[in-house]
Parts: sequence; structure tokens; C-alpha cells
Amino acid sequence: MAGQILHRIALNTLYFSGAAALARPFWAGLGAILMLHRVRPAQPDGGFAPNAHLSVEPQFLDRLLGALARRGSEFVSMDEALRRISGESRSRRRFIAITLDDGYRDNLEHAVPLFRKYEAPYTIYACPGFVEGRAELWWEDLEHMIRRRDSFVLPSPRGNIRFDVPDPAAKRRVYRELLRFLTTTVGEDEQRRIVHDICWQRGFDPAAWCRQEIMGWGEIAGLAGDPLCTIGAHTIHHFALARLEPERARFELEESARIIELETGRRPRHFAFPYGYPAAAGPRDFALAREAGFASAVTTRHGVVYAAHRDHLHALPRISVNGRFQAVRHVSTMLSGVTTRLLGRRIHVS
Ligand SMILES: [Zn+2]
Repeated sequence: MAGQILHRIALNTLYFSGAAALARPFWAGLGAILMLHRVRPAQPDGGFAPNAHLSVEPQFLDRLLGALARRGSEFVSMDEALRRISGESRSRRRFIAITLDDGYRDNLEHAVPLFRKYEAPYTIYACPGFVEGRAELWWEDLEHMIRRRDSFVLPSPRGNIRFDVPDPAAKRRVYRELLRFLTTTVGEDEQRRIVHDICWQRGFDPAAWCRQEIMGWGEIAGLAGDPLCTIGAHTIHHFALARLEPERARFELEESARIIELETGRRPRHFAFPYGYPAAAGPRDFALAREAGFASAVTTRHGVVYAAHRDHLHALPRISVNGRFQAVRHVSTMLSGVTTRLLGRRIHVS
């Protein structure tokens, strides 16, 4: 799950005005790390799809990879991306490192065949808590509950709070409000307890949903044997590390590496911060990721990669392949570097 959303109109303007083409030689940097989550056919949503940005269709990914290959981009692993950033390895072509967060089973079914078709290395950041039933896809659970009900109750120490969500507009508003509440007002443990309570009172089993949607260790270990695949780490519980005490944040980093090594036989060298926006992962967490022994850590801060990132390998930006803007020209515009510059920050150290 990730943050930055660029407005479709702004992306179109930049593309059709020619600004993206003009920017490319100057601002596109060494390359980019693409960020994906789900890859699956379009889902019926009834006008309420708060997580649609996290899901792209296989046909779009196919078109995108084809266009990037034709344009001369070079698909590389995260290991090779780091060699490019540090200057150890050089190429006149810009690199594209493909990353997918959370370890969804749809990656295996719909994305991996495309990566093989284009011989494109990819990194899947797995979260052991999802695999083992110790954490849940709470943002999807919340979406399910709000979609299937006209009203629901939020238990609180001061009594139950009732939410009426009879139509898509009300559902979108309540989802937005609850998301803010759950990611700012209450802590990470309380967030999970509240979503769990809402689910269980309505007979939705979040653990069963997670088991269905997230790959098991057998599938992950199988992928780890694919020469194109890198398995990275993504914490144990998918907590926003910046909202945890330092020792707990350190545990999430180190323990996720330990368990993935145990299950796949390889220690992960790369890490992705859950949520990855500034309030979820900050400078302390970048330092913790380095101390935990990871060679790199990616955020969801928007941007292409420049040589200056060699000093910030644990706060790497990515380009989100956003399910709301499934057009090759939108991704091309972002890869030109123009949006990186317009958003004002090339390096994210804070
Ligand atoms: Zn995630």
C-alpha cells in the first residue's frame, strides 16, 4: 500500500505539452525503481474502490513492459540497480528495477509470466506476518466491510460509533476518515484491533482473506529459485516503522530477514518500508534498515534515481505504477524525471 498519487490531468498535460520528452535527457537520472502491488484482472467495485491505485491489470503491465523494452530501458535486479547507483557498473541505457510489495498470489499468476516474457528481473518484498497469519491486509478488510454493508459499528471505550454508508460517496468518505484515524490517531496495535473488531462482528474472516490473497512459503520459496526473482523483506507485521519504539522497529527489520532466510535459504539484501511515506518511515528507520544489514531500502516517495542516491541507499524513491492511471504515457511522463523535479525533491533524506 502506498502514498503518492499524481493527478491524471497533470500527467496528461506534461505528456502532451512535450515537457516529458524535453525533460528526459536532463532529469531522467540513472533509471527508476517501479513499484507495484497487485496484478490482476479488473474487479467489479460498484463505484467504491479505495485501493484501486494498488492494482494493475495484466494487459496493462504487458503493454508497459513492451513499451519500456522497445524504448531501450534495461530491466535490472535490485542488486544491479545498486551497482548502477554506486557507479560500480555503467551503461548508457537507463535501468528499470521492478518491485512488488506484500507478496500477493496474483503476482505469481499474472505478473511472473510477463517478467519471464520480457526477461525482466523483479523483486517481491514479502511480509512473513501475512504468510503466517500474524498480520492482515487491514486496508482491504476495511474496504470489504464498508462495501458490503449499509452501516456498521466501531466499538469504542465510550460506546459504539455507528457509521452509515448507504452509497458509494458515503463509503468513500467514511473509508477516508477511518484511514486517517487508523494511521494517525491510534497506534499500530490499536489499528489492527479495531479493524479486527469491525470484521468479526460482521462475520468476515480477515485471516482467511489474507491466506487466500497472499502467497504461502512454498510459493515464495519456489519463486526464490527463479533466476529473475529477488525476495526482499517488508517487516513482520506490516507496521509503519516510524510509529514504533526503536527496539520494536529494529525487531521488525531483523526478524523479517531472519524468517525469510529460514524459509527460502537466502538472506534478503533488500527491504521495502510498509506504506513508505514520511510519517511511516523516517530518517531513524533508514538508519535502522542499514544497521540491520540490508543493502538497500525503498520508500514510496516519488522519484527517479540519480547518482546522488549512492549516499542514500536506504531511502530510495520509486515510481508507482498506479492502477488509477493505467496508461503507458503516464508512466513515461514520470520516468522522464519531470514529476520528480516538479514535486521539488530529488533526494529524500527526511
Ligand atoms: Zn506493503
